[in-house]
Amino acid sequence: MARRIGLLGGTFNPVHIAHLRGALEVAEQLVLDELRLVPSARPPHREVPQASAEQRLAMVELAVAGEPQLRVDDRELRRAKPSFTYDTLESLRGELAADDQVFLLLGWDAFCGLPTWHRWQELLEHCHILVLQRPDADSEAPEALRDLLAARSVSDPQGLVGPSGQIAFVWQTPLAVSATQIRHLLAEGRSVRFLVPDAVLAYIQTHGLYRGQTDS
Ligand code: ATP
Repeated sequence: MARRIGLLGGTFNPVHIAHLRGALEVAEQLVLDELRLVPSARPPHREVPQASAEQRLAMVELAVAGEPQLRVDDRELRRAKPSFTYDTLESLRGELAADDQVFLLLGWDAFCGLPTWHRWQELLEHCHILVLQRPDADSEAPEALRDLLAARSVSDPQGLVGPSGQIAFVWQTPLAVSATQIRHLLAEGRSVRFLVPDAVLAYIQTHGLYRGQTDS
């Protein structure tokens, strides 16, 4: 039987409850066999993160421990080249059966940035795209995505058929949490308890991460 695999890429700097809750809810709603969190090594579109790749990976591993539907896929950290999502999908596809379904989860902000991504128009050859609502994001889709949405979106995520090629919006519990906010709180010496899992908080404290930094 075809497997159903979800992917949520990100800098996870650090991983927080909105990533985890969104991932788990999508995994349950869409009855995925597994949902993989994929930490990016050298994100092409982002500022260089302050925690090391190994530390971000360790926090994601701690966060999903004991939740069997959620896994960590560290392939982008094992690659010497920048982490283009297209390459990640192609590499994953090489390990799957042709009829396995791949669902790429993107928060609304990430989805809106899609037209700047490497080979973005070919992503749907390898996956379906699930767009997660994000309460702290603007609401208009950019012009460049309108044709794609008109051609490829389906209203019900349960109606995504075949291994790849369609877009659907998913409505998970809205949580206006961002890693930026968490880094800012920590830089100011404030608590981030309940915004990240306890094990991640303990790791941040043990390693003294994000203290006294004033980046965005
Ligand atoms: P930063 O604040 O550093 O930009 P972030 O909180 O957006 O980080 P990322 O690691 O960049 O976290 O996000 C990975 C993925 O999770 C992206 O697709 C992003 O849109 C999505 N995401 C992050 N936070 C939320 C949220 N609160 N609700 C829905 N999706 C989210």
